[in-house]
Amino acid sequence: MNHIAHWIDGLRHAGDPARAQPVYNPATGQVSARVDFADDGVVDAAATAAARAQAEWREVSLARRAEVLFRFRDLVARRSDELACLITTEHGKVLADARGEVKRGLEVADFACGIPHLLKGRFSENVGTDVDSYSIRQPLGVVAGITPFNFPVMVPMWMFPIAIACGNSFILKPSEKDPSPSLRLAELWKEAGLPDGVFNVVQGGREAVEALLRHPAVQAVSFVGSTPVARAVYETGTRAGKRVQALGGAKNHMVVLPDADLGLAADSAVNAAYGSAGERCMAVSVLVAVGDVADRLVPLVRERLDRIHVGAGLEEGIDMGPLITAEHRERVSGYIASGVSEGASLVSDGRGCRVEGHEAGFFLGPTLFDHVRPGMTIYRDEIFGPVLSVVRVGSYGEARDLINRSSFANGVAIFTRDGAVARRFQHEIQVGMVGINVPIPVPVAYYSFGGWKSSLFGDTHMHGEEGVAFYTRAKVVTARWPAPVTTGKDLGFPSG
Ligand code: NAD
Repeated sequence: MNHIAHWIDGLRHAGDPARAQPVYNPATGQVSARVDFADDGVVDAAATAAARAQAEWREVSLARRAEVLFRFRDLVARRSDELACLITTEHGKVLADARGEVKRGLEVADFACGIPHLLKGRFSENVGTDVDSYSIRQPLGVVAGITPFNFPVMVPMWMFPIAIACGNSFILKPSEKDPSPSLRLAELWKEAGLPDGVFNVVQGGREAVEALLRHPAVQAVSFVGSTPVARAVYETGTRAGKRVQALGGAKNHMVVLPDADLGLAADSAVNAAYGSAGERCMAVSVLVAVGDVADRLVPLVRERLDRIHVGAGLEEGIDMGPLITAEHRERVSGYIASGVSEGASLVSDGRGCRVEGHEAGFFLGPTLFDHVRPGMTIYRDEIFGPVLSVVRVGSYGEARDLINRSSFANGVAIFTRDGAVARRFQHEIQVGMVGINVPIPVPVAYYSFGGWKSSLFGDTHMHGEEGVAFYTRAKVVTARWPAPVTTGKDLGFPSG
């Protein structure tokens, strides 16, 4: 049985076998490995190693840090297929999607290679007579990243290339459901020449997270996961005096106006709703059909569902893999039942889905509801599965108000040919990431990723310049040379 350990101070660190938990291959339903679960002692060992390593890493020149980043970036690029295979085996998403995930993670490493430029401060000459002022950004120390199951490579890579490039050491606590890529990434860091202890992995669940939030050496925490846990991590972490950014769940709407290209809208809705079996925080889960558009759009979406091949993600010709666990499939099936009992029209039901040769896999077929109303559970809750709900509204204004009332505000999209309405939408909509004729508007690495409201707790989004700001603290120096000069007694406030 494959054993997935922690990674501390440049080495695999085996935990107590009695605490280990099973990891599943969701396409077969079989246990593929056992993963260690960290307790306080393991977290303390990781934090101690990270603190020691950081004291030296922060002194390493920017040029040398960038060199390590370039080498890491190159190794990940060369190992993309291997990483994608690990993702598919433990997460279930199809291989092409897993490769895309690695590529989007690599973008952040590309960005972090520019760290010498990103850490440039500002300088003002003669702010007072013979006095200069300049700003510098310094690392925080030991920082931690706690990540969800749905992007086991990309989401950690939103965090650690920038954190490490800034001179911090990093402790990753990946999802216990697909932990293998974390160890492979640790090995690649070592191969790239990163000093031991700068990148560490502690495996596990809630107990490991709580130990990280309590540990005095941990200065900052980046979290991505569901809203209830994001809120709790933010509250506990900030109460302990840590800097926290906690990204939560989502319920992303896609508005289709009557003038939109409906073929493009239907393709986009299907790709964004059912890709990765809907287990994406930027998945479209609500299609808002404006005016008379639903009667034309719903059949176009429906006919596309028959062409989605559900199966094991490692096999050729498969579009959609299984859900992450049997429990999650049951939960999503429960939502489908509640949609029916609350009066939505079930246009396509994925519950009967069986994949030949993979009868024990956690599969659920694409599901489509029409005539969903805002009071229904399937509208309100994040389902995180291959379920798309169509809500019919009378006007653009109704669509906007519906979305602005939602407590989630991660991503949103509008499909139209009218530039003026699109521009009004981007101005009026209260959501962090907006797509115009783009269904999954995930920002590139040099912009920042983050939602509003209960999709993000904290002030800074992930990666881009906001990532650099999150992983550093500012210092401003005011200096006078040559010195010393006698200033004489002056107890007044310095004013230049
Ligand atoms: P999750 O909240 O269950 O777990 C996220 C992380 O928190 C994992 O590492 C897990 O081990 C840990 N955790 C779980 N329960 C905990 C608890 N009670 N206390 C402390 N730690 C705990 O999320 P998930 O199921 O792994 O991922 C899916 C969720 O993540 C969805 O809600 C999705 O929308 C969200 N997500 C959001 C974004 C975003 O950018 N906003 C991106 C990806 C995923």
